[in-house]
Amino acid sequence: MIQMEQKLSTKSEVLIEKENRYGAHNYHPLPVVLEKGEGVFVWDVDGKKYYDFLSSYSAVNQGHCHPKIIGAMIHQAQKLTLTSRAFYNDQLGVFEEYVTKYFGFDKVLPMNTGAEAVETALKLCRKWAYEVKGIAENQAQIIVCENNFHGRTTTIISFSNDEGARKSFGPYTEGFIKIPYDNIDALENVLKASKNIAGFLVEPIQGEAGVYVPTEGYLAKAKALCEAHNVLFIADEVQTGIARTGRLLATCGNCSCEKGCENKPEVKPDILILGKAISGGVYPVSAVLANDAIMNVIKPGQHGSTFGGNPVAAAVAIAALEVIQDEKLAENAERLGIILRKGLNEIAQRNPLIELVRGKGLLNAIVINCGEESDLAWEICLRFRDYGLLAKPTHGNKIRFAPPLVITEEQIKDCLTIIERALNDFI
Ligand SMILES: *Cc1c(COP(=O)(O)O)cnc(C)c1O
Repeated sequence: MIQMEQKLSTKSEVLIEKENRYGAHNYHPLPVVLEKGEGVFVWDVDGKKYYDFLSSYSAVNQGHCHPKIIGAMIHQAQKLTLTSRAFYNDQLGVFEEYVTKYFGFDKVLPMNTGAEAVETALKLCRKWAYEVKGIAENQAQIIVCENNFHGRTTTIISFSNDEGARKSFGPYTEGFIKIPYDNIDALENVLKASKNIAGFLVEPIQGEAGVYVPTEGYLAKAKALCEAHNVLFIADEVQTGIARTGRLLATCGNCSCEKGCENKPEVKPDILILGKAISGGVYPVSAVLANDAIMNVIKPGQHGSTFGGNPVAAAVAIAALEVIQDEKLAENAERLGIILRKGLNEIAQRNPLIELVRGKGLLNAIVINCGEESDLAWEICLRFRDYGLLAKPTHGNKIRFAPPLVITEEQIKDCLTIIERALNDFI
C-alpha cells in the first residue's frame, strides 16, 4: 500500500526553485537539499539526517568532511593555493612520489576532473602509438566498450552509446571502435583485424551502466590480448578505484594495497586513470599513471592544465590516500559489501521487486523488476529518502548502493531495514 510521499519544506522548495530558475537544467536531482555531511551521513536544510548511499558517485569513499583531509586542505589553502605549472611548488613533487609509489607506476600526470584524466589518457595513448609503436599519423584507433561512461567532453561522448549524452553534440571525434563489454572474442577479433590499434579503454566494472561486473578473468584475458598485440590496456578506475570495490584498485596490480595483492591480482594497466575519491571528494583531483616508456612521450608544452597539480590538490590527495590505508577501507569495503549483498539477496527472496543484486565491495546495485522506462525506481528512491537513505536510479530501473567506505556493520544492517521497509510500500 503506497503512502503519501513526504512533503518538502518551504526552505527546500525555495532553494530548489532557485536552481530551477537560474541553473542550466543539465541534471535532474532527487528533491532533497543538503547542507552538511559527516562520515556516512548528510543532513538536509531542515536538519533531517540521511545515510548517503551514493557517496557522490564514489568520490566520498573516505566519508564526508573527513577531518584529516579537511585539515590538510585548510592548512595548505592558508599557505599557497595555485602557482600554475610555470613554476615549481613544494607540494607537487611530494604528491607525485607518493602517488606513483602507492600505485606502482613510474610517473603521474595530474589533472582535475575524471573527464580530463580520460582525455589525457587518450592523448597519451595516441602519441605513444605514433611515436613508439609506429602507427601512421592519424590512423590510430582506440577500442572502447558499449555502454561505457568516461565523462562528458566532446571526444568522450563521441564514443558513448547513450543517446542523451551524445545526440546533437556532433560532429564526433573519430578513431574509436566500440565492442561489447565483457566479450573477449569481440576484443580479439578487432585486435586481429587491424594493425592500427593503439589502446583498449575499459572500466573494470561499468558503474554508470548499472554496476555491471564482468565475468571473472575478463580483465586479465583482455590485458593479455592487449600485450600480445602491443596495445595499451587503459583502465578507467575513476569510479572503481581507491578501495571502492574491496581492493585498492578493481584491476589491483602492483600496488601498495594492504593485502599486498597476493589476493588474486587481476591486471596491471598500462595506463591507470583515477579521479573522484583520490581527493576524498573534497577537491577536484584526477591523475593518469603510466610507466616511463609511455609517459615520456609527453614533452613540455604538449599537454597541461592551469589547476592540475596545484598545491591544495597535492596536499589533499596525499591525505585522502593516507586515510584509505590508515583506516583499512579496502578491507572494510570487501567485508561489508558481502554483508550488504547477502542482506539484499535475503530481501529479494521476500520482495519480488528486486530482480537482481550485483556488485563488488561497496559498489553495488539492485535491478528493480520493471522496464527501464518505468519511474518505479525513482519512486522507490523518493521513499528511501523519506525513510532516511539517499540513493539515485541509473538507467531507469537500477539503483546503485555505494555508501562511504567508513560505514560500519551496524549501519549496514540499519540501512537494510530502511531499504526493505521502503520496498515493502510498493507491493
Ligand atoms: C565519473 C566518471 C568519470 C568522469 O569524471 P568527472 O570528474 O565527472 O569528469 C569518468 N569515468 C568514470 C568511470 C566515472 O565514473
